[in-house]
Amino acid sequence: MKKFLTAVALLLMMATSADAAIYRQGIIYVIYDETGERSVTNKADVNSNGVPDVVEDIATQVNAAREVFQGVFNFPDPLNAARFKNVSSIEINIEAKDALKFNGLAYSTVRKKSAHDPNERALHFKVANTINPHTSSTPAHEYFHLVQYSATYFRNAWYLEGMARWSQDSVAKINYPDGADIHFKLKSKSAEEKIFKGKYDMADFLWYPLAVNMRDKVTLPAELVAKYRYVDGAPVFQDDIIFGPNVMLKILRVLKSKENLAAEKFGGVKEWRKKGQRAELNNEFILESVREVYHGKF
Ligand SMILES: [Zn+2]
Repeated sequence: MKKFLTAVALLLMMATSADAAIYRQGIIYVIYDETGERSVTNKADVNSNGVPDVVEDIATQVNAAREVFQGVFNFPDPLNAARFKNVSSIEINIEAKDALKFNGLAYSTVRKKSAHDPNERALHFKVANTINPHTSSTPAHEYFHLVQYSATYFRNAWYLEGMARWSQDSVAKINYPDGADIHFKLKSKSAEEKIFKGKYDMADFLWYPLAVNMRDKVTLPAELVAKYRYVDGAPVFQDDIIFGPNVMLKILRVLKSKENLAAEKFGGVKEWRKKGQRAELNNEFILESVREVYHGKF
């Protein structure tokens, strides 16, 4: 018994880093190490509050993106989704870039005992300790994955990563490609093959051109743009233009309506949700959703 307890104690020590700190901004909690290899690379603290500015700025960017998507455009709210029951916060863990490999990683699972309160359930994602929100919209990108997860179980990369890259336009300034050839891309077999193999690159190839072609250009409310600033006073929103929010929201809704068809083809909803979220057979349903929205069916 004693041996068992020792093992458990050891595991707990490994799971929680000794100097992990928690910074809260609204429903966002950033969990970060103050020193060591997981601590943020840029330790500037211009407001001298003991929290690295990068940590505060990551939370600020996510709250800003959240207000754009939920407050202005009515995208599904991850904290209110049928899929995630009784979650009340979002936890962001800062991880060493070397260990994480990516700039960020978003989970579609609920953290049943959140890091800031074991009695609370939280959604969560990771952001690399090298990220600087002034120049990177990774925090908004990872947040948008939570929006996607709460909208639909579809998870094929050309949709999941391509549209999440599109969502970075919420805070970033994007040089929009020409949308003139989208009609051809949605019909052509060779374009279809390229789309199905795509990932982040589908933002430029498909999602931005689609938004531009459909003339879904929106100017963010001036009060919102003025509201969000990083610790050093720099604006969070790099410009006040976003292309495509209405189109993308429609596509998410149509995707939801196609889930049963995809699941049926895979062998049932339970099986599909478990193993079929990235199945190749999903591709036709996702692209069909895009085509239907493009042709104004919704
Ligand atoms: Zn992503």
